[in-house]
Amino acid sequence: MTDKPTLAVWKFASCDGCQLTLLDCEDELRAVTEAVTIASFPEASRAVLDGPYDLSLVEGSITTPADRARIQAVRQQSRTLVAIGACATAGGIQALRNFADVQALLETVYARPEDISTLATSTPIADHVTVDFELRGCPISKTQLLEVITAVLAGRKPNVWPSSVCLE
Ligand code: SF4
Repeated sequence: MTDKPTLAVWKFASCDGCQLTLLDCEDELRAVTEAVTIASFPEASRAVLDGPYDLSLVEGSITTPADRARIQAVRQQSRTLVAIGACATAGGIQALRNFADVQALLETVYARPEDISTLATSTPIADHVTVDFELRGCPISKTQLLEVITAVLAGRKPNVWPSSVCLE
């Protein structure tokens, strides 16, 4: 591990679009990668460095028991945790399941529904762990994402009002 702060990106139930926003930063991404050690970024690499992590960006909603356990582990390893995008901050399109009988859906769709491990609902990250900041959008704004990363690394509050929420 280096002396640079560590940035980790985590994916839960999502389309990867918010992670793509980070990749889309192009020139700015070079500056970010020079300033931090990328410890986890599933859109770019399967490698995951051990924690703790200075900043975790969490994409996606919690939809399975395994997700629920994993977000707890991510939280324990993260100094600052930012939920990015509508899936992570509101449950996403997959939260439509929250209005249906999930067991009935499983029995309709799958030949062996007993093999499927899922929760009855798709829920935001803040329903499961403490979230330090929520960055909203579908996908998130590149400019706002860079501001959040820069602010967290500088130890100040991100200036991305009104579309984002600080949960301090
Ligand atoms: Fe994809 Fe939108 Fe969810 Fe981001 S918020 S992961 S763009 S569906």
